[in-house]
Amino acid sequence: MANSSDVMEKLVSLCKRRGFVFQSSEIYGGTGSVWDYGPLGVELQRNVKEAWWRAMVHERDDIEGLDAAILMHPRVWEASGHVSGFTDPLIECTSCHRRFRADNPEVAGKNQCPVCGTKDSFGEPRMFNLMFKTFMGPVEDTSATVYLRPETAQGSYVNFQNVINGSRQRVPFGIAQIGKAFRNEITPGNFIFRTREFEQMEMQFFVEPGSDDEWFEYWKAKRMAWMESLGIRAENLRFSEHGPDELAHYAKKAFDIQYKFPFGWQEFEGIHNRTDFDLKRHQEYSGKKLEYVDPVDREKRYLPYVIETAVGVGRTILALLVDAYQEEALEGEPRVVLRLDPRLAPIKVAVFPLVKKDGMPERATAIQQALRAAGINSFYDDSGSIGKRYRRQDETGTPFCLTIDGQSNEDGTVTVRDRDTLVQQRISSDSVIDYVRTRIS
Ligand code: ATP
Repeated sequence: MANSSDVMEKLVSLCKRRGFVFQSSEIYGGTGSVWDYGPLGVELQRNVKEAWWRAMVHERDDIEGLDAAILMHPRVWEASGHVSGFTDPLIECTSCHRRFRADNPEVAGKNQCPVCGTKDSFGEPRMFNLMFKTFMGPVEDTSATVYLRPETAQGSYVNFQNVINGSRQRVPFGIAQIGKAFRNEITPGNFIFRTREFEQMEMQFFVEPGSDDEWFEYWKAKRMAWMESLGIRAENLRFSEHGPDELAHYAKKAFDIQYKFPFGWQEFEGIHNRTDFDLKRHQEYSGKKLEYVDPVDREKRYLPYVIETAVGVGRTILALLVDAYQEEALEGEPRVVLRLDPRLAPIKVAVFPLVKKDGMPERATAIQQALRAAGINSFYDDSGSIGKRYRRQDETGTPFCLTIDGQSNEDGTVTVRDRDTLVQQRISSDSVIDYVRTRIS
């Protein structure tokens, strides 16, 4: 088992070397805390989003999907409170001009700059708005200022009536979205943990006021169970409740699901009771009625309360990678293995002809074609010893490796080797698809 302090370093290096995550615009020296997902990273990311969508939308009758635009009417962000309230306190060292979040433990309550060491060098904290601004249209004047959304949630609120009308849902029901969000974080960092551009998987569940506490507990339990279902070890997950000082401007109650990252316990999902704050404000600012009218008892009208579940794709990926990363000794040789759940693994099966002759490449290619036709992502590798080929797949989390050898020509069987148990067994080539499919769905 790797020492926790160097796990991050090893993961960052593995992610770059094997094509999971690259620094954005690296050849120009990188962009501050923005990351690109490479060939394997994008597969992992798609699988995570797919698993979330399946659990939150496809497997339920009471949640609808939505894909709202990143750019919204600027009044949305006035109504939501983000223009006035989505701020962090910023302090600047008057000597080296480095900036910090005033509530960062490195500087909070201390009067010494952690970078240049100057004492009493901090000015008064000022509030810094985390929203990115840009201009819509050709004239760069303030009337055309728009924001890059800092959360997807507002798209669900402003479409609340559209979704009801188009789907015939009744309260309680939810709207789910996966999409990009942007925050001009003062102190981003820890690889893909805190970035300025990131993706969120958010679900807003609209409920009758009074039933909100019960639904809050329901979603807390559901979301924790989902994390565990992805194979994340239960001992590395916990809830943490926001104290009154930490509650966002819209929240009545908030719990984080935290993961034990190598740099400490940190949030990666939030479950919030946002009350009727957002709908009420949008009703006020837009002048449009957003009330829900009970279709049976039409006298019953109210603004629903909202229970939100909000999780970052990047943070989920980081938690999954940290949890899956293991170093072990195998037959005296070190082995790095990513024990990712087979459903999430970027490559599901590697196909190896033992040698590049005697009909083995042809058989291997035919198997790969069958895997492709079945929609199973595979990788063909005919270079190096089988042991080396196994190692390369282990460190990218491929759960199954198939080897086509001399016996395959005689009896049509192949060897399948399991990443976790290391057990090798012969199965008929005709059963490969079923074998893999039952283990990845
Ligand atoms: P934090 O306290 O870490 O800044 P938050 O409480 O502001 O997070 P929410 O607004 O609840 O976060 O956002 C929901 C989720 O979106 C977070 O749990 C996290 O997974 C993700 N997220 C938020 N900000 C970032 C960011 N800057 N980079 C990556 N993911 C983020």
